[in-house]
Amino acid sequence: MTAQQHTFDVVIVGAGGAGLRAALEASRRARTAVITKLYPTRSHTGAAQGGMCAALANVEEDNWEWHTFDTIKGGDYLVDQDAAEIMCREAIEAVYDLEHMGMPFNRTGDGRIDQRRFGGHTHHHGAGAVRRSCFAADRTGHMILQTLFQQNVKQGTVFFDEFYVLDLLLAGDRAAGVVAYELATGELHVFRAKSVVFCTGGYGKMFKITSNAHALTGDGPGVCYRRGVPMEDMEFFQFHPTGLYRLGVLLSEAARGEGGILRNADGEAFMERYAPTIKDLAPRDMVSRAIYSEIREGRGAGPDGDYVYLDVSHLDPGVIDAKLPDITEFARTYLGVEPKKEGVPIQPTAHYAMGGIPTDVDARVVADAANTVIGGLYAAGECACVSVHGANRLGTNSLLDIVVFGKRAGINAAEHAAGVGHVELPEDPAGAVTRMLEGLAGHAEGERAAAIRGDLQVSMDEKAGVYRTETLLKEMEVELASLRERYARVWVQDTSRGYNTDLLEAVELGFLLDLAETLVVSARTRTESRGGHFREDHPARDDKNWLKHSLARRTDSGVRLDYKPVTHDQVRADGEEVLAERGGPMSPANPPRGRQPLCRSRCGCDASTPRPRPSRGSRPTTSRPSPWTGCWTSCTG
Ligand SMILES: Cc1cc2nc3c(=O)[nH]c(=O)nc-3n(C[C@H](O)[C@H](O)[C@H](O)COP(=O)(O)OP(=O)(O)OC[C@H]3O[C@@H](n4cnc5c(N)ncnc54)[C@H](O)[C@@H]3O)c2cc1C
Repeated sequence: MTAQQHTFDVVIVGAGGAGLRAALEASRRARTAVITKLYPTRSHTGAAQGGMCAALANVEEDNWEWHTFDTIKGGDYLVDQDAAEIMCREAIEAVYDLEHMGMPFNRTGDGRIDQRRFGGHTHHHGAGAVRRSCFAADRTGHMILQTLFQQNVKQGTVFFDEFYVLDLLLAGDRAAGVVAYELATGELHVFRAKSVVFCTGGYGKMFKITSNAHALTGDGPGVCYRRGVPMEDMEFFQFHPTGLYRLGVLLSEAARGEGGILRNADGEAFMERYAPTIKDLAPRDMVSRAIYSEIREGRGAGPDGDYVYLDVSHLDPGVIDAKLPDITEFARTYLGVEPKKEGVPIQPTAHYAMGGIPTDVDARVVADAANTVIGGLYAAGECACVSVHGANRLGTNSLLDIVVFGKRAGINAAEHAAGVGHVELPEDPAGAVTRMLEGLAGHAEGERAAAIRGDLQVSMDEKAGVYRTETLLKEMEVELASLRERYARVWVQDTSRGYNTDLLEAVELGFLLDLAETLVVSARTRTESRGGHFREDHPARDDKNWLKHSLARRTDSGVRLDYKPVTHDQVRADGEEVLAERGGPMSPANPPRGRQPLCRSRCGCDASTPRPRPSRGSRPTTSRPSPWTGCWTSCTG
């Protein structure tokens, strides 16, 4: 197959929230192309419902340091704390950036951006729930995506829509470009670039009951993995407690943030027993396990006793219509249930990948446990692992992650491109993709990709889902080997050149199988329970042996695991003790130990002389300099 050639400074793969935010920065500074397999506004960010958190303190007292603490604790201390601090600190600017681009946030009576509660977000280090999530009804992701897309169109960003990136080109230790397949024509395109940014989203389609769309097949991580990049923390996958029964369609935590209650078959509000302080707003891994405990102990509802209810019937119907319109409509449409009158049947649903392509806080992809940077290669969003979510992501921290680290990725990729030349492409750059496609399309009979994918998903739900054991994970490893054998004989029935989604589904299944293997091997080896990874045979968290990130690398003999330390510069895993040692919670008067009052952002400001910002529109009066740095900006450039 001959391939068309294109040359850009920066190539961004993916046009969800992370990709579009990166593109906005990169295309201001460098010749940039965005390559996306979906039309940009169909990206999965558009499905995000509940909100994006930032400690604006618009409706009650809050600050980004409490947000950082919650993120670290919610992630069961596997969070890299420098990254979490950056995210929570830059969150405030990230929300105002979007506001100034025209994002239609819900408003308080006095015109500020409204905020609501979400699981795990607290004030005073866990003293009670705080209203930190900024939202646009239950369509926050949709609004972010539309806003960012409009800005990119205005700026003239170049898009290649419905192009599937299937390979990463490396020259020595540097990224050199990507190879993409054009859906409409079946042609291959080689994109030569000085910087490549992966923003391809998650890979929830390896599970059957999932909130993730059909396209979330882990292509970016899959491509990088095959080119030797290890995958970080793959064993940590989040199961959201409230998926529509049997369908997995998400009912956002916003429902519980607005006062919705989980009830078992007896009508009992059972979360009061599992998390007496924050009850239904406990972190997602805890709530998901509580639901399964109710079901296992015979208090599940329905003929098979295999679901519980999400009850919003006591809420003011006006609140439901104004703040939860989409998710209540899902219940009516898909289950025929009227949420204003009755409980909605729900069960946990595979939702979010905490693991992925390892990066540093500048979104640069790293190749090993020593954090060796691969020149010109970046990743951001759900496909990346920076690691701000550790073992368990807090709700509304992902929309935040994608805009904060998307922006950093775009700026850094463009700056890198400005300082280097293009490297020589390898000989026959599209050769590997050509051989892969010809191999997949080369069988005249066999098994369809959908059948193999279906079996993978069912087994992953059963054996590598909310509850895991050595026996189940070992069985899953054996099953994956057999699924791989079946995949080697997969039959692509459609022989067309144009719009051959049959062929592309077979390609995507290959990525899912690779990533499922990294998840299962990492999960089997980690003999502890932490966040989204729960081992029934090792139910306790084991900081002595397992407070470390896993790195799963592809070798000829299977997955090889390596580990790297967690960055702990604020709170140790025995958080309570550190707080006591320090003389109380972190605050401006009681900063994290060892922290110097230096500006850690790269805006060049003098940390000792804060620069007040001019008042703008609805900027709240609580806007203030960073307590640690004295810097009023969250400048990243
Ligand atoms: C139902 C649901 C509700 C959610 N609600 C919230 C919420 O309220 N708050 C929150 O913080 N988080 C929420 N999340 C999580 C959050 O929405 C996602 O983690 C986030 O939007 C991911 O953004 P992204 O830019 O990384 O990826 P995506 O938005 O998934 O975009 C991926 C992009 O990559 C492209 N792509 C993929 N593969 C290829 C390829 N091979 N070649 C070219 N392009 C490719 C796609 O076309 C797409 O443009 C929710 C998730 C779900 C599923």
